[in-house]
Amino acid sequence: MPSLPMIAGDAGIPAVQEINIAIISTGGTFGMETSERGLRPAPVAERIDALLRSPAIPGLAYTVTELAPQIDSANATPLAWQQIVDAIDERYEDFDGFVIVHGTDTMAYSAAAVAFAFSDRHKPIVFTGAQRPLSSGDSDGPLNLIGAIEHLMLTRPQTADIYFGGVAMNGTRAVKYSTTADRAFISATTAQAESSAAISAAEPAAIRSIPPFGRYSDVEIPVIRVYPGISARTMSAMLGDLPAAVLECYGYGNMPAATPGLLDAIAAASGRGQVIVAVSQCVDGRITLGRSEVSTGLVEAGVVDGVDLTTEAALAKLHYLFGCGLSAPAVRELVVVGLAGELTARV
Ligand code: ASP
Repeated sequence: MPSLPMIAGDAGIPAVQEINIAIISTGGTFGMETSERGLRPAPVAERIDALLRSPAIPGLAYTVTELAPQIDSANATPLAWQQIVDAIDERYEDFDGFVIVHGTDTMAYSAAAVAFAFSDRHKPIVFTGAQRPLSSGDSDGPLNLIGAIEHLMLTRPQTADIYFGGVAMNGTRAVKYSTTADRAFISATTAQAESSAAISAAEPAAIRSIPPFGRYSDVEIPVIRVYPGISARTMSAMLGDLPAAVLECYGYGNMPAATPGLLDAIAAASGRGQVIVAVSQCVDGRITLGRSEVSTGLVEAGVVDGVDLTTEAALAKLHYLFGCGLSAPAVRELVVVGLAGELTARV
């Protein structure tokens, strides 16, 4: 884990140290180089330093750390989330904020996971990355990095934000939206303001009832997207005997309820104690189980109405709540209580 300590403007003239941030690179396209098998992660700390030295951002002191190994975020797992949490945690007292350089593919999952892990502490954390690597002539990385730092300095978000393509949003509401556009992410509810600086981080009573977070583990929680033709057999196989699942329904919570055995498979898993959280395949709006006959079966099966949680936030939150050592019934209750700005509508 190489770490480079630097102070912007450090050319014999002492800089005014208004803020000291840790920049932590996890990998991603931002620092990738081309290889015969396509883009792959490469060392980036010195290139980040070069970017931030000229021109220097007044009042900024920083260190750059590369997590080892640097990964394509397509390879991220809950253990990779934990690696980021550990890296922030180790530096928490020494820095005023954290910028995390991350790949776009799973940035929204990691940002949500980090937001939950730090939902009881409020130093600013901002994720960013790039659609095109620094090594290409037209990289969006420099603007994103500098924008992320400025967003952190100016708004001091109390949770984990994503800053990308000129916009900032709460990491627990972000969804990757474009494979190519500079503006790669959108915030899942259009009514939601893009910057989360003003979002109250938590519902205090709920936070008090949650034991301290332990760790993200590699316990598998499947995300099951409903599609025309999904069978009871596939549903049962995907639900398995895992502790929880995120069920991506149509629209406001609808299912192919007429498919023989499908709801029975869900009810059986739920009856065994599996926490199944329904979310919508739509990016905008919320679900309302029971609004249509095709969703009432989910209510009868004991599925949790995930309100307007994104898939990414629902997955990270289930991992987080189990990582707090909570029982399945407690997880069922708390998954729809706001902890880090992830819910914008009420049950
Ligand atoms: N596959 C890359 C990653 O997520 C894509 C990117 O960074 O934009 O690491």
